[in-house]
Amino acid sequence: MYNGFFPEIIMSEAEKITRCVEVLCGSGCNTVRSTISSLQNNEPVQSHKQMVNELDGNGRAILLAELVSIMAIYEKENMIDWQEINSVFLDMDGTLLDLHFDNYFWREHVPLRYAQINDIHMEEAREKLFTKFSEMEGTMEWYCVDYWTEQLGMDIAMLKEEVDHLIAVHPHVVEFLEAVRATGKRVVLVTNAHGKSLELKMNRTQLGGHFDALICAHDLGLPKEDVRFWEKLQNIEPFTSGNTLLVDDSLPVLRSAREYGIQHLLAVYKPDTKGPMREVEDFMAIHRFEEIMPG
Ligand SMILES: [Mg+2]
Repeated sequence: MYNGFFPEIIMSEAEKITRCVEVLCGSGCNTVRSTISSLQNNEPVQSHKQMVNELDGNGRAILLAELVSIMAIYEKENMIDWQEINSVFLDMDGTLLDLHFDNYFWREHVPLRYAQINDIHMEEAREKLFTKFSEMEGTMEWYCVDYWTEQLGMDIAMLKEEVDHLIAVHPHVVEFLEAVRATGKRVVLVTNAHGKSLELKMNRTQLGGHFDALICAHDLGLPKEDVRFWEKLQNIEPFTSGNTLLVDDSLPVLRSAREYGIQHLLAVYKPDTKGPMREVEDFMAIHRFEEIMPG
């Protein structure tokens, strides 16, 4: 814009950003991660407040982009030792696919149809449904299309089709799947989703052909949150815990996999592209699959 006339102004903003990057990176990974999270969610930063607050909106956006790319490169070098991996287990909703579809479906679309059918207000419908949902969270029924069809008196599979245009694959997923398979490792989709949801999503995204196997927790009778799930999985998809990578956006699932002994675990920072950054506890996590491309 005016950089020809006021180079000192541009320089000084650029210098401020450079100084922020240096100081934040010098304070360690956790500081950088929490600053990224605050900037992404438009919240006040916790460390080196004054320095970051001196930046204008554009400066904050540039700082955020720089910190994200620095962390991506840093974490890529440390995150996965591909030599050690033989099997890659990938979750579907929120990991490979944008969780926005599922969030929108259960928080907006189902309450809307429920309100219409029962002739009640949307708010009342939401309240009733959310109570029912939270009671079943983490159980096999929670993921079961047939269970909710019966409980709510609505054809859930059909309702999903009404909004299936919202089903979307996260960035770099296809390249990642192809790159991992090219190395000869097993690539397996391991999902809690019901068979009908899996079918709808595979039809919509055409991702199915990129896997060596598709495994539905319903066929094993236990959700991934249950540590016994991984034992059962061994019967149909043998794996060595020390040489297996699991990427999953659910912390309860990652915890159960860790308890079973799976050595390489990764969480997902933004399962829903329209939602906030997620807390990932002490798990390593990715923003995008390009951060862990093999080779
Ligand atoms: Mg998930």
